[in-house]
Amino acid sequence: MKAEIICVGTELLLGNIVNTNAQFLSQRLADLGIDVYYHSVVGDNAERLEKATKIALNRSELIIYTGGLGPTSDDLTKEIVSNILGLEMKLDNISLEKIKEYFKKSNKIMTENNIKQAILPKDCIVLKNDVGTAPGVFLDYNEKKIVLLPGPPKEMNLMFNNYVVPLIKQDYIIKSKTLKTIGIGESQLEDLIKDLIEEQTNPTIATYAKEGQVDIRITGKDRDEETIDESIKKLVEKIDKVLKNYIYSYNNKTIEEVFYNLLKEKNMKVAFCESCTGGLVSSRFTRIPGASLVFDRGIVTYSNNAKITELSVKGETLNRYSAVSSQTAIEMANGLLSKSNVDMALSTTGIAGPSGGTKTTPVGTVFIGIATKHESLAIECHFSGDRQSIQDKAASKVFDEGRK
Ligand code: ATP
Ligand code: MG
Repeated sequence: MKAEIICVGTELLLGNIVNTNAQFLSQRLADLGIDVYYHSVVGDNAERLEKATKIALNRSELIIYTGGLGPTSDDLTKEIVSNILGLEMKLDNISLEKIKEYFKKSNKIMTENNIKQAILPKDCIVLKNDVGTAPGVFLDYNEKKIVLLPGPPKEMNLMFNNYVVPLIKQDYIIKSKTLKTIGIGESQLEDLIKDLIEEQTNPTIATYAKEGQVDIRITGKDRDEETIDESIKKLVEKIDKVLKNYIYSYNNKTIEEVFYNLLKEKNMKVAFCESCTGGLVSSRFTRIPGASLVFDRGIVTYSNNAKITELSVKGETLNRYSAVSSQTAIEMANGLLSKSNVDMALSTTGIAGPSGGTKTTPVGTVFIGIATKHESLAIECHFSGDRQSIQDKAASKVFDEGRK
């Protein structure tokens, strides 16, 4: 089924809001195995909405609109679509009662124009709005499915999941599995599994790169769940043969979650001291519920002085090797290990840029120190990207090194 998403709202065109509705719908449709071929954004303008609708009717089998179902005069979607399809509109009493109830419950005054929200195309399937006023509309029209949903994401998401999905679901099952990799670029990764990608039609393989990591998404379609599971399993084995060293998760866990689970399993405690990542490592780690089971502390020692007073890094080390060096990274980690009662201490020190790079330590150079009771070492890394991207990649690398 070829699908198209039309988001209506001038504020989208002005860049005042981000089109998260299109993103949400695209992701959900992909999960359902429905191919989205087009996204359009149209302002609150009758003529252009009419044009976009005619084009969509020509090329797509499923058209999903969001926005413009509100009570005001610039909310036009229902009217335009009904008009083009030649559908009469009439007051839907059940929806009107619901709207009245909604206003009563939330102690707001219902105005005359709210009634407009209950005027719907005749014979449509009404999609209930459990968290707002505007009901949605589902139309089966000449073998095409047309869905009108309100703009506010909270209302739209819920209505889509609860009421639209059952109406557009296909009679086969889609299952996907995501393998997460770190330490390899997307093009190199694709090159290594090129043959697999090319020969696969079901399941399919797709790669997605973000912040130094590449996800491999395997998607299978079939009427029978066991068949999909089996074919995905076989494919994972093949991918594993080539990429085992880079894959850190087979069940869509983040790198910090993988590290966390390992620490928990081994009953170990960890602490972080950070310079160039400025607390990002601790911040990301404490996003995990239950972090307190394995996390002792995180400190940010940004200046040389802080490294000396908080972590007992030697002034001599800083002078001789500089703050961005493996020696400093190791001393930071060792200092933290001796001050806290943990099994592993990890440190970051580096140059996130955009300025501050030198010949020997260009922007993107980061040293990660690791100290345990048995050993201490530092890893030298070189990341590319802007300041934030370098910090993100460095933080991910800390978790990656920690889990190794
Ligand atoms: P309302 O009854 O609130 O007027 P509506 O169906 O008419 O609902 P709009 O007026 O188009 O929808 O949008 C309402 C609000 O929903 C917008 O101000 C915006 O905050 C949000 N919104 C609309 N479209 C999108 C979108 N595509 N992505 C993210 N948010 C959106
Ligand atoms: Mg509106």
